[in-house]
Amino acid sequence: MTPVLDATWTALLYLVAAVCFILALKGLSSPKHARRGNLVGAFGALVALVTVFLSSRLGNIPWILAAIAVGAAIAAPVARRVQMTQMPQLVALFNGVGGGAAALVALLELPHADDAWVRLAIVFTLLVGAVSFAGSAVTFAKLQELMTTRPIAFPGLPTLMGAVLLAAVVAAGFVVVLPLSAGSTVVAVVLLALGLVAGVLLVLPVGGADVPIVISLLNAFTGLAVAASGLVLGNVLLVVAGTLVGASGTILTRLMAAAMGRSVSHIMFGAFRGGSTAGSTAVSERPVRSSTAEDVAILLGYAQKVIIVPGYGLAVAQGQHTAAELAQALEARGTDVEFAIHPVAGRMPGHMNVLLAEANVPYESLKEMAEVNGDFRQADVALVVGANDVVNPAAKSTLGSPIYGMPILEVADAKQVVFLKRSMRPGFAGIENELLYEPQTTLLFGDAKDSLTKVLTAVKAL
Ligand code: NDP
Repeated sequence: MTPVLDATWTALLYLVAAVCFILALKGLSSPKHARRGNLVGAFGALVALVTVFLSSRLGNIPWILAAIAVGAAIAAPVARRVQMTQMPQLVALFNGVGGGAAALVALLELPHADDAWVRLAIVFTLLVGAVSFAGSAVTFAKLQELMTTRPIAFPGLPTLMGAVLLAAVVAAGFVVVLPLSAGSTVVAVVLLALGLVAGVLLVLPVGGADVPIVISLLNAFTGLAVAASGLVLGNVLLVVAGTLVGASGTILTRLMAAAMGRSVSHIMFGAFRGGSTAGSTAVSERPVRSSTAEDVAILLGYAQKVIIVPGYGLAVAQGQHTAAELAQALEARGTDVEFAIHPVAGRMPGHMNVLLAEANVPYESLKEMAEVNGDFRQADVALVVGANDVVNPAAKSTLGSPIYGMPILEVADAKQVVFLKRSMRPGFAGIENELLYEPQTTLLFGDAKDSLTKVLTAVKAL
């Protein structure tokens, strides 16, 4: 069947899609335009998809449509039902599937790749796509708590990783340099398997607070694999889209690593060197000062400056609207209220910004870590709502702790610290927080939304 679109129209529509992707990234860089950016990106993807159908001599169209239908039938309900707090798992899963798909495309194209340069692009796609697929699967299991979130390292790990990478380089060299034969496909399958093992070994030793950064890094890997698969298929749009994902993933990885006071190599290879160790999940029996909602309301109601520190627990409890109402009620009493946002609070980059924007908290009240840390000294109360790791002083004081070196929100500088949480259980990194036992700290136990509602009622009654 002759394609509907000729080469000029195809190139033009690919250009439209590429421009949409770039505009989407621009829109996504600010919460104000993020929704529009998302829609523009989705429109670009639709243009790209339709162009592929109308411009190629595609065989097997019923199979392709069936695969799209199966994929959509699985992904649409999952994406609809997923809780905001489970978003990183979903991103990890979708990202991994992208890398895996690129690797499979490369494997299927190998028998037609007479040019050594194309075979080079194929081995790159196979290896990086497989690493991304397997690494993302382990990240998913860690975030979904199907396995421990702690770093897993064993004595022979660096040697094993080295051997796997060496074998992968030899296998890749074999496929690229030697002429195509039936053996090439077998070696390519071995390369794929080595990539899967490398992906698992790469992510196993990463734990605690570093998992989000690895998600972003694997995202960049998938982008590179997709760009290379574009070279394999001779599809310019795949090269452009893959490069955009690769570049934005790399920039996000570097920004997040910088915000966490880490280098990317330390995150990836820290546990190989024995640098990142697990903390203890044992909850100590030491006494803490707990309080009632009414007492917390008095503390807040008569404070001049309150800084609210939201964390993962606020997201789980869906307490953002009540937190916003509490801020308004306090402001109505003349209290200065700010929200302090840590870059990795919650379970995805920008999680707290999204949550609080949903509750219509004005952007001016959201303060980034660097901006707000100096303010805690003037704060009468730091109200920590479902946050733990991002305020844990162990990040500064406990060498070898999984969060050591991560900059924290300096809530201990406030005159009083109030934690809203349900129990003495630790946060994501699984380590105790000494701040809970300090004399200026008060705990209000309970679900964050319930506690906030009670405190709000009591503040209004003051
Ligand atoms: P943490 O996971 O450190 O702590 C959350 C706290 O919330 C816990 O102390 C928990 O205590 C409490 N909590 C849980 N549910 C509720 C509830 N319903 N009501 C009240 N409290 C509740 O969260 P942080 O935001 O401080 O730190 C985020 C952590 O997640 C960091 O380690 C970060 O690296 C990691 N991470 C971040 C990602 C990101 O991109 N932002 C992605 C993946 C991981 P209790 O059980 O006692 O209630």
